[in-house]
Amino acid sequence: MNADFDIGIMGGGPAGSTMAAYLAKAGLSVAVFESDIFPREHVGESLVPATTPVLMETGAMPAVDAAGFPRKYGAAWTTAETRKIDPMGFGGPAHDFRTAEVLFSERDQPGVNRDYTYHVDRGKFDQILLKHAQGLGARVYAGIRVNRVDFSGELPVLEARLGNQSVRVPVRMVVDASGRRTMLGNQLKVKVSDPVFNQYAIHTWFDNLDRSALAPDAAKVDYIYIHFLPLVDTWVWQIPITETITSVGVVTQKKRFQAAKDSRERFFWDTVASRPDLLDVLKNAERVRPFKTEGDYSYGMKQITGDNFLLVGDAARFVDPIFSSGVSVALNSARIAAKDIIAAAAAADFSKERFASYEAKLRRGVNNWYEFISIYYRLNILFTAFVQDPRYRLDVLKMLQGDVYDDEEPKALTAMREVVAAVEADPGHLWRPFLGELSAPTAKAGF
Ligand SMILES: Cc1cc2nc3c(=O)[nH]c(=O)nc-3n(C[C@H](O)[C@H](O)[C@H](O)COP(=O)(O)OP(=O)(O)OC[C@H]3O[C@@H](n4cnc5c(N)ncnc54)[C@H](O)[C@@H]3O)c2cc1C
Repeated sequence: MNADFDIGIMGGGPAGSTMAAYLAKAGLSVAVFESDIFPREHVGESLVPATTPVLMETGAMPAVDAAGFPRKYGAAWTTAETRKIDPMGFGGPAHDFRTAEVLFSERDQPGVNRDYTYHVDRGKFDQILLKHAQGLGARVYAGIRVNRVDFSGELPVLEARLGNQSVRVPVRMVVDASGRRTMLGNQLKVKVSDPVFNQYAIHTWFDNLDRSALAPDAAKVDYIYIHFLPLVDTWVWQIPITETITSVGVVTQKKRFQAAKDSRERFFWDTVASRPDLLDVLKNAERVRPFKTEGDYSYGMKQITGDNFLLVGDAARFVDPIFSSGVSVALNSARIAAKDIIAAAAAADFSKERFASYEAKLRRGVNNWYEFISIYYRLNILFTAFVQDPRYRLDVLKMLQGDVYDDEEPKALTAMREVVAAVEADPGHLWRPFLGELSAPTAKAGF
């Protein structure tokens, strides 16, 4: 059997289109099968600077720059009440916390030549990236869902339907970039739900939301805001989409939503009402999109590479949106995996061993995220305390920039783990009341 393409990619989101761009640039024949017709709405609108080197390398950056997305110079966190951060337990500075912020310009990031990234309308952003891959020579089949990959023969064969016709496309290698639909993870039964996290999100867009209302000053209105609610494991994102449109989402425990038995709309408003200052801001804005929900999004894979296939982006793993890491992981996983695929094609050998360096790098990077996320949910006061501590600030910022793929474990992680262990061991610890309910193993990354 002859292959129709070197590489068949399932999914034309950021992971799939970035993979297609790298491979097409290297001269491989590439087909992208995307089940939706773009533009389509998608959650995941705030980027981190680790996306910049990838967009530069693929050549997509000029088109992204030209789209006029709001620039994101930093991130901020707010609480309803001023919290007294006592240094007890880790020796950091005592301070009051109502808002905390970081600026990306505080730390030079290798490969990043600018002090901002973007917040994006994913309908537009994903379309730009897919068009760019097409311009580099990738074939894009829009509106075609791959239902299964037949691995029984010499070559993998993508199986899809076109109207009432079955289509079979033999390729030399398959890349699963199907996002949270986890096409191959399901087919191969390698998907594992996260043993700890089971969060749930409800989100929408508002017009004319006053972004300055909860901002410390006018220069920071277009940061991403994470507003903590006085409910366990619950927070709200505020992300600028255009000059006047703002994306807002509530993230909470799925069990809380299930217990409430309310409509999405009612649940959203009741939850936000726990922060009256935030409620006021939202009430004075106009909702311009229906509420959407996202659930069951915390999982890993027992296997992310195999003979003639590998998984990238959300198809490989997703845990939680708290650090806006998803698009960056999608782009960087495509970047790292593309190197192995290009080398495999040159050697005419697509066996699993060829993708070992991708697997190791991705697992290391994502495990760093996982640990930060675990610690954040276990003791989020610690996270803001570390942001304010000069010994750890740049280390936490490095992670917030998405710069997590090198070899070192960030030193803030080790220190945070020790503090969490001390608080857990001491019922009288001052920070004890701030312990969250989600308790992932803090001594060991991931699962
Ligand atoms: C509540 C929430 C908030 C988030 N907020 C952020 C954020 O602020 N910043 C951030 O960076 N990330 C965020 N994320 C994560 C982000 O949405 C994802 O990590 C990112 O979209 C992953 O890109 P991807 O290309 O892997 O998958 P996707 O963007 O989901 O793309 C996958 C594509 O594959 C297509 N597809 C699926 N199945 C098939 C099939 N069988 N055949 C053909 N095509 C198929 C789909 O139509 C889709 O277009 C958030 C996630 C959640 C759940």
